[in-house]
Amino acid sequence: MPASESISQIVFKQPSAQAADLIAIEDQYGAHNYHPLDVVIERAAGAWVWDVDGRKYLDFLAAYSAVNQGHCHPAILAAFYDQVHKVTLTSRAFRNDQLPLLLKDLHDLTGFDMALPMNSGVEAVETAIKAARKWGYTIKAIPADQAEIIVLSNNFHGRTTTVVGFSSEQQYRSGFGPFTPGFRHVPMGDADALRAAITPNTCAFLLEPIQGEAGILIPPPGYLKEVAAICRENNVLLILDEIQSGLGRTGKFFAYQHEGITPDVVIIGKALSGGYYPVSAVLSRRAVLGVFHPGDHGSTFGGNPLACAVARAALKVIVDEDLAARSARLGDYALTRLQKIKSPLIHAVRGKGLWLAIELNTPARPLCEALKDRGLLCKETHDTVIRLAPPLIIEEADLTWALDQIEAVLTA
Ligand SMILES: *Cc1c(COP(=O)(O)O)cnc(C)c1O
Repeated sequence: MPASESISQIVFKQPSAQAADLIAIEDQYGAHNYHPLDVVIERAAGAWVWDVDGRKYLDFLAAYSAVNQGHCHPAILAAFYDQVHKVTLTSRAFRNDQLPLLLKDLHDLTGFDMALPMNSGVEAVETAIKAARKWGYTIKAIPADQAEIIVLSNNFHGRTTTVVGFSSEQQYRSGFGPFTPGFRHVPMGDADALRAAITPNTCAFLLEPIQGEAGILIPPPGYLKEVAAICRENNVLLILDEIQSGLGRTGKFFAYQHEGITPDVVIIGKALSGGYYPVSAVLSRRAVLGVFHPGDHGSTFGGNPLACAVARAALKVIVDEDLAARSARLGDYALTRLQKIKSPLIHAVRGKGLWLAIELNTPARPLCEALKDRGLLCKETHDTVIRLAPPLIIEEADLTWALDQIEAVLTA
């Protein structure tokens, strides 16, 4: 950069906001670790987004459920704005006046004794793994460095090297080894496989109650109840990753409430901030997060006052607007309509609340492109699955319109 030019002058010189130019810049200067649909979003409100050419689209992904409350929710914006010019970051070297209030809200809302706030989802997963291992050594008396965690095949828990190391998805792992040892796989829905995989060194069983990235895979009824009992009998922590399934998405506040169980640990993220800011947290009984002592674990941004103010507002919206019940009602309606669509392209339709999947006999990408051209943004997962996950605040009329578009594309 010539010394005489300021950064703002350089930025100012970029081409005007034309979609094709912006896409070309992104492709030239950014790493290609995503394959986005070519819609360049400039603003959003509620369930709708607008591209740089002023076209509007209904968002049927909701940033992987991070905007359950809808884009730019005014109540969260107000909390964000209020806090952002008071104080944003203190680090945990000092206390701040927002963290205690978030911790209390999380306790009152969920019943868990304690919480540990982090930023991204995968950091909270890593935090839960560390807590479970430390619990294994200090409480369960597992011999040093022998702790094992059981996970499901087809899991998705994020992208750090430890976490992709226990993925069963070849692409997530390939080229990134060597990996952290101490993880074993069992298939979802097979309680006997879990029983057989447990050893005296097992400290935890970590799973998504519904597997989102794998294509909204729902375990058979009773499975979670059975694994909860197996974990209890064997003194194994049950850790549920509710980063995507939690906070109203499946029609309950937590997906595990469909089976009336209580896990030892639950991991949340995504909609915990309503899309304003990365906020995640681990919630647990005192015996688990209680294993951490000063210096054992930390994060510069975790628990910062801006994050906490935003998270409190985001949680309040989910409760005040009864978004879990809304998800249940609109989800039932959507599933019933999807099941009536007669199309040779459909292999299966499934869902829980406003979290639905259409599994196709054919690649999903061209259908997602066709839906985009009709103003509906959906993203394929695993080549042949279209995931439907609109913001939970979606109007019923907008949902109906979206289902009309889906039906039209599937029966064209
Ligand atoms: C998105 C997701 C994560 C990872 O969250 P990041 O914020 O992307 O790190 C972990 N687990 C589940 C179930 C998720 O859906």
